[in-house]
Amino acid sequence: MTSKKEMDRVCGMWIETEEAPFTSFYKDETYYFCAEECKVKFDLNPAYYMVGVEGRKP
Ligand SMILES: [Zn+2]
Repeated sequence: MTSKKEMDRVCGMWIETEEAPFTSFYKDETYYFCAEECKVKFDLNPAYYMVGVEGRKP
């Protein structure tokens, strides 16, 4: 058994893709979120979250 994990780019949490409650599709990639709040933030400004958690300005 293998499980795939993807990072929730908004809050930085790791999400089990099979159990992800919220997803978004952006530029041919699926992104996973822990909560609707994270998905909404991503959908409003996906380019901002593409930078990654580390490189983002506060
Ligand atoms: Zn989140």
